[in-house]
Amino acid sequence: MAPVKISIIGAGSAVFSMRLVNDLCKTKGLAGSLVSLMDIDQTRLDGVHDLALRYVKELGGDLRFEKTTQLEDSLRDADFVINTAMVGGHSYLERARAIGEKHGYYRGVDTQEFNMVSDYYTISNFNQLKFFVDVARKMEELCPNAWLLQTANPVFEGTNLVRRCSKIKVVGFCHGHYGVHEMVEALGLDMKRVDWQVAGFNHAIWLNRFNYEDKNGYELLEEWIKEKSVSWKPKTPFDLQLSPASIDMYNFYGQLPIGDTPRNGSWKYNYNLETKKKWYGEPWGGADSELGWQWYQERLKTITDAINYLSNNKSIKLLSLESYLKFLPKGSVPEELKQEIKVFSSPTALSGEQHIPFIDAIVNNNAQRFVINVPNEDSIPQIPKNVVVEVPAIVDRNGWHVEKIDPPLSEKVIKMYLIPRMLRMEWALHAIMNGDKDVLIEMLIRDVRTKSYEQAVGVLEEILSLPENEKMRKHYNDREKL
Ligand code: NAD
Repeated sequence: MAPVKISIIGAGSAVFSMRLVNDLCKTKGLAGSLVSLMDIDQTRLDGVHDLALRYVKELGGDLRFEKTTQLEDSLRDADFVINTAMVGGHSYLERARAIGEKHGYYRGVDTQEFNMVSDYYTISNFNQLKFFVDVARKMEELCPNAWLLQTANPVFEGTNLVRRCSKIKVVGFCHGHYGVHEMVEALGLDMKRVDWQVAGFNHAIWLNRFNYEDKNGYELLEEWIKEKSVSWKPKTPFDLQLSPASIDMYNFYGQLPIGDTPRNGSWKYNYNLETKKKWYGEPWGGADSELGWQWYQERLKTITDAINYLSNNKSIKLLSLESYLKFLPKGSVPEELKQEIKVFSSPTALSGEQHIPFIDAIVNNNAQRFVINVPNEDSIPQIPKNVVVEVPAIVDRNGWHVEKIDPPLSEKVIKMYLIPRMLRMEWALHAIMNGDKDVLIEMLIRDVRTKSYEQAVGVLEEILSLPENEKMRKHYNDREKL
């Protein structure tokens, strides 16, 4: 047992913080640890801090908490730093998106080929990307040996950027690979008998290995496609693992896209709402359509309201399922929220987030398998070494040990998807690291929605003119290096 200091940056993201607290309480090897909750929003911070204290008390857990609005205080002497902050919040994303739409860019300029996820901004997201680097550089001063667990998006660009701008040990985290479980369950198979592997980049992973006992799992998937795919209907906008888009990508690339990857197809599936509905299902057209994203915003609000209610009503027992259900309108409790609540109110269930088991593996040598974002060595030979890839690895006290990717990714996945996606990351990083606005404009020139040079310049200048983008404006106007 080794107590550590874990700093959570952007801790006001209540569901996420509470998932981590949940997992920590139930991980005996990390008993006695100090959790430093850091957020610039005092109200959110107070709410999460209060809930965390009550939760630990009810569970009889052994954790200490501190809360702060000062980044430096939280980072000082940390062993692990989990960055989940979103600078500017969802409201900035919507403002930048609205400007994009005004200039003819459906779903905003940051929605790009192979990067359609609505909070994964790489062009107009200077403040967020710069913050990733600021955190890493402050860590060099205040906790140089700590691990940075990069969770806020964009994980692919962000993890690569931090590696290029600092010496801090950084690993990117996402739960997208759970798409394998969703698919296996939909096929009526038992996950324990599945031998699987995924590989690629964050939000761009592919099922390279799929065996079911002694059978080829892909033959079972083919049967499902033949018999059941016609009657597929999404339960939520995020239920896309076996959507027509996902199956179409499988048919084209020869391997199944996993998790968020079907959201990140080409324009074929994303030209407009009608196209999205065809490929991602009615009524929403997937998570990243105007309807799907609105659904997600409403869901986030329900959760924030629930958290506020719980932190304002201190007599409520957090470990009782009924106490949550009482708050929520009768008959309207979403299934995935019920699942979330079940985890919280169980004395042993973990959230499924990888962060705390990862820390436990490093600290206590409690070796486990993860899917993490780490520098490429030989996993994907066609991708340069050191570009960050998302791959399965065993983690123990000596760090990560990436599995041999076998069989390899298909030629089409490499040439038609991963290499073009990697170039977009390289362009975005070149732009921000060199303050090179021309590269951002050139990215837009190469966008199918751009009809003139003036359109690309116009949209970028209007985004740069937003008051919250003052630093971004200066960075690009003065060609500052990062
Ligand atoms: P949110 O806006 O609800 O929460 C983010 C928090 O960051 C807020 O409490 C905000 O006050 C705080 N914050 C903003 N600027 C800050 C700063 N300078 N310092 C400290 N805190 C600051 O957002 P969310 O929906 O919870 O998403 C957070 C991030 O996590 C996003 O980037 C999102 O894309 C990402 N995300 C990642 C995964 C994953 O698996 N990797 C999954 C879901 C969401």
